[in-house]
Amino acid sequence: MNIPEKIKAIRNQIETYCNTCHRNPQTVLLLAVSKTRPATDIAIAYQAGLRHFGENYCQEALLKQQALGAYDITWHFIGPIQSNKTKLIAQHFSWVHSVDGLKIAKRLNEQRPDNLPPLNICLQINVSEELTKSGIATDELAELSGAIAEFPRLKLRGVMAIPAPEEDYEQQRLPYKALFRAVTALKRPELDTFSFGMTNDLKAAISEGATIVRIGTALFGERH
Ligand SMILES: *Cc1c(COP(=O)(O)O)cnc(C)c1O
Repeated sequence: MNIPEKIKAIRNQIETYCNTCHRNPQTVLLLAVSKTRPATDIAIAYQAGLRHFGENYCQEALLKQQALGAYDITWHFIGPIQSNKTKLIAQHFSWVHSVDGLKIAKRLNEQRPDNLPPLNICLQINVSEELTKSGIATDELAELSGAIAEFPRLKLRGVMAIPAPEEDYEQQRLPYKALFRAVTALKRPELDTFSFGMTNDLKAAISEGATIVRIGTALFGERH
């Protein structure tokens, strides 16, 4: 399959999975994860209708943004954030999914240019409690979301999670279900975004409330 065919296939899958759990497919945004892919692949996906692209590495993303300056793309930063990259991220992205602490949030707030709208933020939650993975613990969410809500140049939107890889569908659902409940319990209506799900757990993510699915491999093929 070429990229447009793969996009069609993923859209069909999203629709099928939404129908299965009685959700409106319009409530699930397909974010194309384009890390390691050339700008030409992004252009092809854009021509096929995609507008939201996710990148993990700042320098790589900036080069593609320059090459694709004429395109009306919404850029999402989804990778680990180093303090020395927050300024570029604040200047060149509309969304950041991987905010994992107050220090990074504070820098992004201070560095977001005044001529741009507030930066949309998701807090990355460590749902698998692996020491090697970044993200905050679920029980830090209440305090941190309260603090970030005070930052005028950020717009706190929700949470992002990358669970440990798991093949079993029911097992895949568990971390998303628990996190969805924890966020709902906060009773903060502005937290309307659940950045859940990648190529291998798309169905589980949609069944547990994903509003943004981050898909790379299924759209662009295996990364090398
Ligand atoms: C690479 C990546 C994805 C996409 O993963 P696929 O398995 O290729 O769909 C999604 N989210 C994050 C944070 C990533 O780094």
